[in-house]
Amino acid sequence: MTKTAFSSLPLAAEQLSNIKSLGYEHMTPIQAQGLPAVLDGKDLLAQAKTGSGKTAAFAIGLLHKLDVKKYQTQSLVLCPTRELADQVSKEIRRLARAIPNTKILTLCGGKPIAPQLTSLEHSPHIVVGTPGRILKHLVDKHSLNLDNLDILVLDEADRMLDMGFYEDIMQIINNTPKTRQTLLFSATYPEQIKDISDAIQNDPVDIRLETSHNENKIKQVFYEFEKGERTQTLISLLHHYHPQSTVVFCNRKQQAKELAEALWAEGFHALALHGDLEQKDRDQVLVQFSNKSSSILIATDVAARGIDIKDLEAVINFEITPDPEIHIHRIGRTGRAGNEGLALTLFMASEAHRVNRIEEYQNTTFKIEKTSGLKRRDNFKLSPPMVTLCINGGRKNKVRAGDILGALTAKTDLPGKQIGKIDIFDTISYVAIERPIAKQALKILSEGKIKGRKFKVRKLS
Ligand code: AMP
Repeated sequence: MTKTAFSSLPLAAEQLSNIKSLGYEHMTPIQAQGLPAVLDGKDLLAQAKTGSGKTAAFAIGLLHKLDVKKYQTQSLVLCPTRELADQVSKEIRRLARAIPNTKILTLCGGKPIAPQLTSLEHSPHIVVGTPGRILKHLVDKHSLNLDNLDILVLDEADRMLDMGFYEDIMQIINNTPKTRQTLLFSATYPEQIKDISDAIQNDPVDIRLETSHNENKIKQVFYEFEKGERTQTLISLLHHYHPQSTVVFCNRKQQAKELAEALWAEGFHALALHGDLEQKDRDQVLVQFSNKSSSILIATDVAARGIDIKDLEAVINFEITPDPEIHIHRIGRTGRAGNEGLALTLFMASEAHRVNRIEEYQNTTFKIEKTSGLKRRDNFKLSPPMVTLCINGGRKNKVRAGDILGALTAKTDLPGKQIGKIDIFDTISYVAIERPIAKQALKILSEGKIKGRKFKVRKLS
């Protein structure tokens, strides 16, 4: 496959060097195929999922078109979930580093509206948000004005339709200029997507990338278990393969909750991600899994949608899905960035037809392994390499990642390389620390100051 350099695009030199500094060497396929059209002002209908580089495929376009001297909302990105909106904002912020004074605002439901109203007193250049809350600002509060919108992006449009946002989206669109450029991204192409594209787009450039492009880099193994043995078979798989990071998929949230409890009881550090969690708990689960202080994430398909979890050593289908397309989506989370991934699927005799359906969909036959071949280890421990410390101060307290790093390392002999990911939220921050030095780091942060101020710090368990 030929690799296309970003320098082939008509971008400002500052943006090209910023992209380089982010470590993006070549365009991903969606960027190589989509960006020329986006920069040319064309509408785009693109099939792309998380991990394809789709965010940069539109973000570079929004930023290219942006005039920072105009204090008007020039781009709007609609996302199905807060997690995706946060991720998209982060990526746009990274790409906006080359353009000083760009104001990007995230507007999502489940968050207090008053601070959003304050932020909207001066129009942001770019707004990222979920449809319900955007509509509230637009129609109920009149706090958002889209009269000068240049570009509208619908990200994960299929998911937004699944979640019943059709009416909201159409009402938002009715408040935007007809001359706008519309970019529509969707992981799947149901009939409804075609319909919505026909209704809101103008002769879009249509890009479809193969859904299963990294299939061959994923080793798939199927295990048939006896009724009543589902959880024990999963534990045997964890013993046998001892993956460092695993997402275990369940079909129902109740099952996800129960499984997390069962795995804790067996000494595994497993966290469940499902629709019943409060936003703060969802954030904590994702932070702990992505910073390697939890090794197993148990998720339902709905909860996992749109979240950017990379470098997964294994995906385990605790319950096989009846939908082969969902199966492909699940297993696509392992084996990224050229590493071979591992996808393990459990099924019992009454679910065998689901295996057949996936085989038909992928046009292949899978070897079915025996669970008796799975080896359990003595004194087995799958403890995550990191521990998360939680600091009760965040963006609103002007805490930045550099301040936390500084507080930990400036006057101490704590090696910076043993400090992992730092996540800053509005009023709370998280820092991952290698397990052996976690106690020492906790002491330093609790007894010392961050940016000259005392903060409460605790270990997340
Ligand atoms: P997305 O599909 O937008 O969620 O992007 C997946 C990840 O790939 C994000 O962490 C991006 O920062 C990263 N990414 C986007 N474009 C590139 C690129 N051209 N080269 C390397 N990484 C990229």
